[in-house]
Amino acid sequence: MMSLPESSSRPYEECGVFGVWGVPDAAALTALGLHALQHRGQESAGIVSFDGNAFHQHKGLGLVGEVFADGDVMSALPGHVAIGHNRYATAGGTHVRNVQPLYADYAFGGLAVAHNGNLTNAKTLRQALVRRGCIFHSAMDTEVFVHLIAISLYNTVIDRLMDAAKQVKGAYSLITLTPDDGMIGLRDPLGVRPLVLGRMPGYEEDNGGWVLASETCALDIIDAEYVRDVEPGEIVVINADGVKSLKPFGDKGRRFCVFEYIYFARPDSILEGKSVYDARTQIGRELARESAIDADVIVPVPDSGVPSALGYAAESGIPFELGIIRNHYVGRTFIEPTDQIRNLGVRMKHSANRSVLEGRRVVLVDDSIVRGTTSRKIVDMVRAAGAKEVHMRITSPPTKHSCFYGIDTPEESKLLAAQHSLEDMRKAIGVDTLAFVSFDGLYQALGYSDRNDGGRNYCDACFSGEYPITLVDKMGKLVQ
Ligand code: AMP
Repeated sequence: MMSLPESSSRPYEECGVFGVWGVPDAAALTALGLHALQHRGQESAGIVSFDGNAFHQHKGLGLVGEVFADGDVMSALPGHVAIGHNRYATAGGTHVRNVQPLYADYAFGGLAVAHNGNLTNAKTLRQALVRRGCIFHSAMDTEVFVHLIAISLYNTVIDRLMDAAKQVKGAYSLITLTPDDGMIGLRDPLGVRPLVLGRMPGYEEDNGGWVLASETCALDIIDAEYVRDVEPGEIVVINADGVKSLKPFGDKGRRFCVFEYIYFARPDSILEGKSVYDARTQIGRELARESAIDADVIVPVPDSGVPSALGYAAESGIPFELGIIRNHYVGRTFIEPTDQIRNLGVRMKHSANRSVLEGRRVVLVDDSIVRGTTSRKIVDMVRAAGAKEVHMRITSPPTKHSCFYGIDTPEESKLLAAQHSLEDMRKAIGVDTLAFVSFDGLYQALGYSDRNDGGRNYCDACFSGEYPITLVDKMGKLVQ
């Protein structure tokens, strides 16, 4: 895994994957789908299309709107099928060679792969593959898949893909594009990362219009209907024969990433049958019940804190106000050159709304505290705007452990909650009171009776340290 650049105090986000089969202008629809998934990664974007004879690709660093701004670029991506990816690196550095989808020429023809997640045995497999003579071109886990498919002794692409999937361990959602077998989607055996299947109306006659995406918000933007989630461990093969489902791993249970509900996913998405927005407002309500406090205003840290702050406000009866305003037009890098300028960075993204905060007892609602840098700066800003008291309420349990399943959280030594007691965290952040939602409260908000009941359906390793997938590359360094 790469380490975070010095300029960033935040962990990396995941990636977004999207694919569409059997529609005209597949690449343009893919660009729209990626645009809706932009929150899952802003570092780079790429699309590979197939026109029945040849593959076409365009990839670049930057936002989807920047990489695919040019009409010439789009018209150079013809075909009725396309897959795309946007990335905020979890493994591999910021280089164009690490931009997905990856495309490879095999003995059986071309294959493009878009991948969201992290393999926990990528390093181990990679060393073995390099010893066998495989030459790697990128630093991405995805390339391990590509090589495993290439050297598999099975005859068909699908058998080779299954062969590869049985050798990797980790959390991933994968979309591949092949000339003969069509578009193939695959979700890891425990379904940690999301993947949904949708369909655009109007293409039924030719068995077309099929869509795969990380989240349902990417179906909505192209007017596709949600069909279902791809099941954990399921392979869906989409071509002129329709959708074929294969389950090579059998039923291993499900451990969907609970942090998707808390922070990652877009609030208008429905994941695993649950609205992300509803989940967040319910967690906010739960938090208000668990850690009520006398206050004048409930203020979200935008944007991620907004639905839960609405829930907190509704439950507590204290008014919801926009005490922090977010500027959405923040460039990523030009704030970095000097420490002085870098420290102003948080004000580029968030600014305090004095008219709401001055003289008030404020409850700030945010989704998580990772290193504590953001919270500290926001609290300072809120106090400087005249708040009389500042109380922080967090809609996740304390983040005490690193994620090895697709979210590049910093190492444990940099996680505030791993190193400090609640009281020390409160002091470090500079608030009057600090509270996190309890484990049981989190799962009650998701519709279970407690963590025992709900926890076995989710991965909450970043809070609990219980890693459901063996951390092969880390063995020896971590208990597992
Ligand atoms: P920190 O300053 O490290 O404590 O960052 C915490 C803030 O980062 C919270 O306000 C979250 O909204 C946000 N955050 C939490 N997890 C992630 C992540 N994996 N990637 C990007 N931002 C995150």
